[in-house]
Amino acid sequence: MKTIGLLGGMSWESTVPYYRAINRTVAERLGGLHSAKLVLVSVDFDEIEKLQHGGKWAEAGDRLADEAIRLERSGADFLVLCTNTMHKVAPAIEAKAGIPLLYIADPTARAIARRNLKVVGLLGTRFTMEEAFYRSRLEERHGLRVMVPPAQDRAIVHEIIYGELCLGKVNEASRLAYRRVIADLAARGAEGIILGCTEISMLVGEGDSPVPLFDTTEIHARAAALVSLGDEPLAAPAPGSQGN
Ligand code: GLU
Repeated sequence: MKTIGLLGGMSWESTVPYYRAINRTVAERLGGLHSAKLVLVSVDFDEIEKLQHGGKWAEAGDRLADEAIRLERSGADFLVLCTNTMHKVAPAIEAKAGIPLLYIADPTARAIARRNLKVVGLLGTRFTMEEAFYRSRLEERHGLRVMVPPAQDRAIVHEIIYGELCLGKVNEASRLAYRRVIADLAARGAEGIILGCTEISMLVGEGDSPVPLFDTTEIHARAAALVSLGDEPLAAPAPGSQGN
């Protein structure tokens, strides 16, 4: 079994379910008292959030790359960055770390492919919904068509993540807002919805959507366990190559 290196704390609310899902998957596969081999580095999210909203992505990338090196030195065989948004700085992390990164969008896209879906709605932070790093991974490497909510709804989705979910607050009014945004995406043609922020599954589940939901927290954590057991590939095929 390989040792998983979890880079968490973004926010800690969503790192907790990673630990549970990884261990549950290993126990299901191996039975008995088996559990995952992992090391965890957890950052102070206040510091990271200030860098994000201040546009200081290079600094954020350096900080997370240093944490990745700590994980590697602690025996991790591969990295799991427990946030969608910070995959924006995945290239900086990968350039410095001596171990590979299990990119969160790859197992998510494989889960979507298993359901034979091609058009997906993407919910996440403004950075994840609006910038190219995440969408292009899904579109260019995995051949998906990605839809996002209109600007006003993206702002609502973003605010609820930072102002409520990352603080552990789950509000009914926000659940209703997310339900409406999801229903609108489905009405516009989304065949499934990516919960592309690791806190969103605190707020909505299958009962809140007319189309299948793809929870990146659960999918990424489960994939990490399967990679550690050698049951799932770590790398996605490069653009233009065969397969999903
Ligand atoms: N956990 C969230 C995500 O998956 C948002 C927090 C962050 O900005 O890292 O994108």
